[in-house]
Amino acid sequence: MLRSRYEAVIVGGGHNGLVAAAYLARAGRRVLVLERLGHVGGLAVSARAFPGVDARLSRYSYLVSLLPSKVVADLGLKIALRRRRYASYTPVGETGLLVDNGDAARTAESFARVTGGDGELEAWRRFYGMTADVAERVAPTLLEPLADRAAMRNLVGEEAWRDLFERPVGEVVDERFADDTVRGVVLTDALIGTFADPSDPGLLANRCLLYHVIGDGTGDWNVPVGGMGAVSGALADAARAAGAEILTGAEVLAVDPSGEVAFRDADGEHAVTGERILANVPPAVLARLLGEAEPVPEGAQLKVNMVLSRLPRLRDPGVDPAAAFSGTFHINEGRDQLARAYAEASAGRIPSLPPAEVYCHSLTDPSILGPGLREAGAHTMTLFGLHMPARLFREDPAGAREAALRATLASMNAVLAEPVEDCLLRAPDGSPCLEAKTPVDLETEAGLPGGHIFHRDLSWPYGEPGRWGVETAFERVLLCGAGARRGGGVSGIPGHNAAMALLA
Ligand SMILES: Cc1cc2nc3c(=O)[nH]c(=O)nc-3n(C[C@H](O)[C@H](O)[C@H](O)COP(=O)(O)OP(=O)(O)OC[C@H]3O[C@@H](n4cnc5c(N)ncnc54)[C@H](O)[C@@H]3O)c2cc1C
Repeated sequence: MLRSRYEAVIVGGGHNGLVAAAYLARAGRRVLVLERLGHVGGLAVSARAFPGVDARLSRYSYLVSLLPSKVVADLGLKIALRRRRYASYTPVGETGLLVDNGDAARTAESFARVTGGDGELEAWRRFYGMTADVAERVAPTLLEPLADRAAMRNLVGEEAWRDLFERPVGEVVDERFADDTVRGVVLTDALIGTFADPSDPGLLANRCLLYHVIGDGTGDWNVPVGGMGAVSGALADAARAAGAEILTGAEVLAVDPSGEVAFRDADGEHAVTGERILANVPPAVLARLLGEAEPVPEGAQLKVNMVLSRLPRLRDPGVDPAAAFSGTFHINEGRDQLARAYAEASAGRIPSLPPAEVYCHSLTDPSILGPGLREAGAHTMTLFGLHMPARLFREDPAGAREAALRATLASMNAVLAEPVEDCLLRAPDGSPCLEAKTPVDLETEAGLPGGHIFHRDLSWPYGEPGRWGVETAFERVLLCGAGARRGGGVSGIPGHNAAMALLA
């Protein structure tokens, strides 16, 4: 039985809405979460994507870095995040660059073989030493009121300020590294989910890089045991246990700045009032609900989910596929290849050699596979393709999806010893276990404007001192989702910060 008034009504039950609900309910506030879909989690969910195949795939997001340990501890979340033994592998002809977290000598040997000396590894260590230092300093501030620009500059120090916050990352990478492959590996973190030229003075790619290297003070990208659904499930449990009410199948139709929220569920249309409204939905959706003009963000990725009957063979005889695919496996993501793909997509064409990266969750955490699949040697494979902006898919969504998928699989096959299609598991109905999601698919099925995975372009983690970066033009309305300052990714940070702003 719903009440008519709540201290907080949360619009959307994504993981950030659940974080906000859990903090507020634990602080004794009456909280209602309204979620449009039949389940919570938003973009942090697991799904059995292929009928009759017992594999729970992280359908959208898949790795966790930005979720602070403090949030996990505060909310008593029962989740496990597992570090990957191998950070990355990048095929280069008949060899490849392996970054092995557990064997520094092997990493050094791989750098020497691929780049022809020690210089690139030294430059790599200097660069990531700098980002590790920034991570340690900046990560704790993400759960505090905003610092201003000058305070952030003081905090990170002059070298990091210049190279991460002021100069285009493309320029910095070209200066610090000489090898095209190494440059590309560094640049991918600046381009994931972000359609940008890393040399652009607008520094959008710098902001993307920053959020990819500071997560929880280490920047590690860890595997959520049980898949992303386990993270959202633990958050929903924490929110409910603290007394939050979560209503699924409840689509919010309108939000009034006075605090009234109109929604529709299976029983009809209703209204509730919140002293505060926390919007977990993207800013463009909030604008529509408020009756305002909608900004139009643009996402730029192709997500492909696969189940394999076995791992594909590599062209490089020196590396076990189980090592290569357990970290981030870079496909045609050299610096020049990234630049070419960006230019082609900017000109309205699907890149001829799409840059992408894949990883196999089940190599680090087999628990997402049923026992039969595990025993048979099956694996999940997640592909994230870059530079596939929504504009390419507007005119002919299905045809363009097919063309983008074909080009992406060809790009992958160009660096393997056999076509990945030969390794796809077949579902009981004979169909291959493969699904592809374009930005337009995400807009349609996940309600994500432009298919932008961060709800809108990422912003710097500093601002007006004392504010939380969740404020809107209306006093009673706060953002609590990825579109807030310091939002983006699976982090719970904007959910935490909106709760703190309300409690302050
Ligand atoms: C393909 C893909 C891969 C990604 N990979 C990663 C990754 O590996 N690691 C990472 O950290 N991040 C990743 N991200 C980004 C990350 O998933 C998101 O930034 C994050 O999950 C956003 O969480 P949120 O709770 O703020 O919003 P969302 O998860 O978008 O939740 C918003 C919720 O609001 C609901 N809603 C919308 N409209 C209404 C309405 N009118 N009424 C009621 N409810 C409504 C939606 O159904 C949804 O549940 C990825 C995203 C995508 C799409």
